[in-house]
Amino acid sequence: MKIIKERSKCIGCGSCAAVCEQYFEMADDGLADIKGGQMNGDNMELEVKGAGCAKEAAEICPVQIISIR
Ligand code: SF4
Repeated sequence: MKIIKERSKCIGCGSCAAVCEQYFEMADDGLADIKGGQMNGDNMELEVKGAGCAKEAAEICPVQIISIR
């Protein structure tokens, strides 16, 4: 499965990194990155075996740009 984040729509609130530091961190430009993720167009993606706390991050993100597929 993949954790996917529409990076350009991030408002930099920091919630994802607060609830799931395993997968998310705040970058120097103030937006969140997926740790070890790669850009694919506007999205940042990371292949994972289990979503773990990324589910909480997806639920808490105020602009709903984190998905797990
Ligand atoms: S919770 Fe959503 S809006 Fe907030 S920093 Fe993370 S991805 Fe960006």
